[in-house]
Amino acid sequence: MTATIAKIIWLGFGLAWFVLRLAPRRHARKTPVRYSARGGREFILLGASLTGLGIVPCVYVASHILRFADYPFIPVLSYLGIAVDSVSLWLMYRTHRDLGRNWSVSLDLRERHTLVTTGIYASVRHPMYAGFWLMGLAQLLLLPNWIAGPAGLVGFSILYFGRVRREEEMMIAAFGEEYRAYMRRTARVVPWLF
Ligand code: SAH
Repeated sequence: MTATIAKIIWLGFGLAWFVLRLAPRRHARKTPVRYSARGGREFILLGASLTGLGIVPCVYVASHILRFADYPFIPVLSYLGIAVDSVSLWLMYRTHRDLGRNWSVSLDLRERHTLVTTGIYASVRHPMYAGFWLMGLAQLLLLPNWIAGPAGLVGFSILYFGRVRREEEMMIAAFGEEYRAYMRRTARVVPWLF
């Protein structure tokens, strides 16, 4: 294992995630949105996440601009990164399968939106965000650079902390007591913990 191979692996997981998302995206888009909380704030949050998980590491992999912040490559960390990215990808697959046409890149409620509380959603309310946390962690483990490595966790934490409460408020407004009861029996991101 070398730093270059680790970068290629990071890129491969990113591509796999992109491809995995194509079909659910097409499927969900067929269902019109009946309410949306999109706006300037969501735009900035999504931009922060995209910058940290996508743009900064792509610049690092494709150019020499960030090389000044490199640190020595530690192979064992990259093996851990592969394991974490695999779990992340599996979570992405499961969440798309369970959410189906209710999925959205932002805060939307679609026509005939149903509250999903089964499958991977039976124990945590935000398993897709759990997948993104793991994606950020894998980036940290795979890219030996003080800027590109942590950028994913920083970028996604901005999206997560800026959005999760608003998302839950939107779901309470739409599903009332059903969502409140769901909140009482589930954790946000880590099953049985928090
Ligand atoms: N926060 C979730 C979903 C992310 S996708 C997760 O991390 O898995 C964001 C969209 O999913 C939101 O627009 C919201 O309408 C929808 N959503 C979130 N939780 C849902 C649920 N339990 N059932 C149905 N739709 C949900």
